[in-house]
Amino acid sequence: MRAGDDGMKIYDLIGIGLGPYHLGMAALIQEADAFDALFFEKNDEFNWHPGMLIDGTDLQVAFLADLATFANPKSQFTYLNYLHEHNRMYQFFSFKEFEMPREEYNHYAKWAASRLDNCLYSRSVVSIQDQSEKGYYEVTVGTAHGTNETYLAKNISLGTGSNPYLPSPARNTPGLSHSSEYTNIKEQYKNSESIAIIGSGQSAAEIFLDLLESQPYHNYHLSWYTRSPGILQLESSKFGQEFFTPDFTDYFHQLPLEKREHALSMLDYVRNGIAPATLNSIYRWMYHRSSGGKQLNITIQPNAELKDIYQKDHMLTSTFEHQLSHISFERSFDKIIAATGYQPNLPSFFSKAFNHAKMENGHFAVSRDYSLQFNENRPGNVFLLTSIEKTHGAEATNMGMAVNRNVHIINKIAGREVYKNPRNVTFQSFE
Ligand SMILES: Cc1cc2nc3c(=O)[nH]c(=O)nc-3n(C[C@H](O)[C@H](O)[C@H](O)COP(=O)(O)OP(=O)(O)OC[C@H]3O[C@@H](n4cnc5c(N)ncnc54)[C@H](O)[C@@H]3O)c2cc1C
Repeated sequence: MRAGDDGMKIYDLIGIGLGPYHLGMAALIQEADAFDALFFEKNDEFNWHPGMLIDGTDLQVAFLADLATFANPKSQFTYLNYLHEHNRMYQFFSFKEFEMPREEYNHYAKWAASRLDNCLYSRSVVSIQDQSEKGYYEVTVGTAHGTNETYLAKNISLGTGSNPYLPSPARNTPGLSHSSEYTNIKEQYKNSESIAIIGSGQSAAEIFLDLLESQPYHNYHLSWYTRSPGILQLESSKFGQEFFTPDFTDYFHQLPLEKREHALSMLDYVRNGIAPATLNSIYRWMYHRSSGGKQLNITIQPNAELKDIYQKDHMLTSTFEHQLSHISFERSFDKIIAATGYQPNLPSFFSKAFNHAKMENGHFAVSRDYSLQFNENRPGNVFLLTSIEKTHGAEATNMGMAVNRNVHIINKIAGREVYKNPRNVTFQSFE
């Protein structure tokens, strides 16, 4: 740590946003006493996708991909230590599952957050001044009281995650919600006569299953429309998991851009799709409930692309186009839930501050160690944890690789190996 021109403290690192990625980074830095870091979160506490904490849903990575284990299994911030501290180890032992409940992941992360003193909440970063010629970046932070604070740091890391994405026909439509709001709206939606889900990823399937389970206690017709050619399963085989390793990212990162883009589309089957357990539960419920010739009050329609939505007779009338026949058709619903995904959240203040960084076809050129590339040498680095799909591939939005990303960044800032960064961890070879 040093002082700026006017005596202000200069942190070694300022992290923007506190999702799981930066939370793990904050924990690893604090525990190793690696350097002086400060993280800012605009919300007043840590909370992981609260609108999607549906009962019975699980994290889609094994519990070993917690905040610390891959860097240091002896850390106080591991999930196993959380279980130990909460007297849950024997129940977890009997539970015999690798994937923890999503609600428990959030509780675990909040527990870890409560042990960190390098994280500040109710602080929204609003601008960055690139003062790298002086050896630091100036970060302006808005507080809950409407005041601004200024902080200086030698290095910056952006971990602002993603924002819900709605296709243009679905924007600003009363009675339509994004899946990220699901737990807030579901009780109200259940009182309607018809509910449609649009999309076919994991969130769409979890919401469909949740509404399927409660359907007998209500009267709604449940529909599921997706542009995809089917209600398709995520490839989750053991070899498929090896795409989420440092070895695969090494290989992916050094490919030319067009090869990376091609590889990304080839990897869609290990990144997108529905967990087999969720699909099995849905099919099982439907099979059981249709026994003895009972009619299901359900519609499932793949190959249907949403083209338009408008209000008609107090209903939301949607126009779809069939992807094979190209025939258009209309359906009306009381409520619609758009499980249409998320987009990387790259704040405009960040793009503005670093508009002179090297770009690659409209995206920041990001080095293997997650730092932006500049034409000139500069003393500190700017690390990017969001919108790195084009440079780092499959791992970009995967929590299984979050700790490894953090290890790269921590070691780089510290200028030494604070945590081991393993290689040769796969059975297959990617070269
Ligand atoms: C419902 C859902 C379930 C998922 N489940 C899994 C899973 O099981 N396994 C898996 O590998 N991946 C999963 N993912 C993908 C991914 O791992 C998660 O989205 C993860 O939360 C990403 O973490 P993050 O730290 O990048 O960002 P986020 O969790 O999105 O957090 C970013 C934080 O930055 C804050 N922020 C934004 N702008 C500012 C600002 N200007 N100033 C201060 N703070 C700011 C936000 O308030 C937010 O808290 C899931 C994604 C979703 C949406």
